[in-house]
Amino acid sequence: MSDLRDLYQEVILDHSRKPRNFRVLQHARCANGHNPLCGDRVSIFLDLAGGVIREVSFQGNGCAISTASASMMTEALKGKTVEEAQRLFGLFHDLVTTGPEQATPESEEALGKLAVFEGVREFPVRVKCATLPWHTFRAAVEGGAPDPVRTE
Ligand code: ZN
Repeated sequence: MSDLRDLYQEVILDHSRKPRNFRVLQHARCANGHNPLCGDRVSIFLDLAGGVIREVSFQGNGCAISTASASMMTEALKGKTVEEAQRLFGLFHDLVTTGPEQATPESEEALGKLAVFEGVREFPVRVKCATLPWHTFRAAVEGGAPDPVRTE
């Protein structure tokens, strides 16, 4: 189990040091998120066409968890429909809050690499770091409001 944990940490560190899709998308929907508990800030850029996520990227400044979460989220969401993305957010949210006892083979397959964030639920203060990019993504879907979005 500790080997697995090391592997998880490696994946998270890799994404936080070399974030994927870390760029501005021109002419895209955009939303800004802020996690005042940790100071994380993230902007999500979203290019939607017919309910499908053609491109999704992010910019921001935050801790390793929030940066890695945003990086891996953009990889997970590209090519998905908005409905699939919302469902994945639900699974991810459960993963980092209530834990894997609610997991099914289907949910594990859907989460894929995002399962590395499982350990976050042992650190409640970090949960908002991990979910900030997802809340911000949802805000971008719902209208791309230019005002900062707070996680609840
Ligand atoms: Zn953070």
